[in-house]
Amino acid sequence: MNQQQLLEQYGPREAMEYDVVIVGGGPAGLATAIRLKQLAQEKGTEVNVCVLEKGSEPGAHILSGAIMDPRALDELLPNWKELGAPLNQPVAEDKFLFLNEAGSKATPSALLPECFHNHGNYIVSLSNFTRWLGQQAEGLGVEIFPGFPAAEVLYNDDGSVKGVATGNMGIGKEGEPTENFQLGMELHAKYTIFAEGSRGHLGKQLIAQFKLDDGKDPQSYGIGLKELWEIDPAKHQPGLVVHTAGWPLDPATYGGSFLYHMEDNKVAVGFVVGLDYTNPWLSPFEEFQRFKTHPEIRKYFEGGKRISYGARAITAGGLLSLPKTVFPGGALVGCDAGYLNASRIKGSHAAIKTGMMAAEAAYDALQAGRQHDELTAYPTAFENSWLYKELLQAKNFKQWFKKGRTTATLMTGIEQWLLPKLGIRNPPWTIHRVKPDHVYLKPAAE
Ligand SMILES: Cc1cc2nc3c(=O)[nH]c(=O)nc-3n(C[C@H](O)[C@H](O)[C@H](O)COP(=O)(O)OP(=O)(O)OC[C@H]3O[C@@H](n4cnc5c(N)ncnc54)[C@H](O)[C@@H]3O)c2cc1C
Repeated sequence: MNQQQLLEQYGPREAMEYDVVIVGGGPAGLATAIRLKQLAQEKGTEVNVCVLEKGSEPGAHILSGAIMDPRALDELLPNWKELGAPLNQPVAEDKFLFLNEAGSKATPSALLPECFHNHGNYIVSLSNFTRWLGQQAEGLGVEIFPGFPAAEVLYNDDGSVKGVATGNMGIGKEGEPTENFQLGMELHAKYTIFAEGSRGHLGKQLIAQFKLDDGKDPQSYGIGLKELWEIDPAKHQPGLVVHTAGWPLDPATYGGSFLYHMEDNKVAVGFVVGLDYTNPWLSPFEEFQRFKTHPEIRKYFEGGKRISYGARAITAGGLLSLPKTVFPGGALVGCDAGYLNASRIKGSHAAIKTGMMAAEAAYDALQAGRQHDELTAYPTAFENSWLYKELLQAKNFKQWFKKGRTTATLMTGIEQWLLPKLGIRNPPWTIHRVKPDHVYLKPAAE
């Protein structure tokens, strides 16, 4: 039975009305919700906000082990320390290694580009952080519905976004309704904010529907594989951050690794491979496993135990691939839009910051009695923000890798080490990508 037939037989769906519905309870969605409620409290008004999260709780679908730049959190919840935010392990030391099969070469700290400096940042479990952020949101009166994926965008007759519908429950293997069948629910809102993370299911539909990526470079992605280990306490150096480039990837393949020493003898290790690789026989997972056998890396893990693992898409196109982020009735925030700074492998600060800016635009619009229009104040605020300046400096990062690792290393050094020393934060040249990732993949026979 298709959706139309299900609706005819079991419908209509129940509907709930909100001022703002947020799809996705990650850092971006929760920051949006928190900022909306803060503004309502400050101004003595009411805003009804709900967050749909497909995981069993906020954080359940987020990979652990990340470095967080606290800049946006400082703005959202300046008293995060008193509120018990799980940012317990400051970064103590940064290392950047170029690996070859047998050995490695470390980049001297004085020559390390700004994007690889992490002093002032924290090594966190992003999933614990998100759970905590969810508690802050609930404390402010946000309704969070865990276990509910938004499955469909709903439109008004004028084409603006009306809200979303959650997925049906109790569907059998062949798509037929079982005795536990329940139609999804409709959530209608004056504004719907999409915060699904990288390659969001509905976000992709909205980008196509409203042609939000017209005139932009095609978006680019990587796959990020991550493992959490408990290692021998004798080998644990709390606060140590190691990034690597080179082996086992060939010089034409974009990617690298990270290794973060967290609290309690835990180490998060991960590997990112750009999805514009050419060799169809390359397996990012196998390359990650091979990487861990390098003498510089295996030394940390011998005698240790892997306690969890996972893989996720990571958005890497940066500013030049950023779509228009608003459309009638809503906006895209965080990695659903593509704000991650690939040169820093960091997107959680951008997620929080963009959630806040979208919330401020939505709050002002609601106060002015508006609904279902474009929240243009949000992209304007972004263009005037520190985040825009940060992404401007990194605008060419991914593109240089299409010219090989040596050129990319040199140009990253120029753009993120030399130019900032000269006070130049926007490289005076712009390198565009014209082809999407998948077209680079060669046929197996080649
Ligand atoms: C391997 C790897 C390493 C990374 N390392 C770092 C790092 O060190 N530092 C850093 O700052 N960033 C890092 N990032 C990026 C960081 O994870 C993201 O930038 C950040 O999580 C983005 O937040 P978000 O809220 O936009 O999306 P997400 O964190 O992805 O959250 C989206 C949420 O929406 C939910 N969701 C999705 N679709 C739906 C739907 N249709 N209905 C309901 N719920 C839905 C998901 O379950 C999820 O909880 C890394 C990413 C990867 C993959």
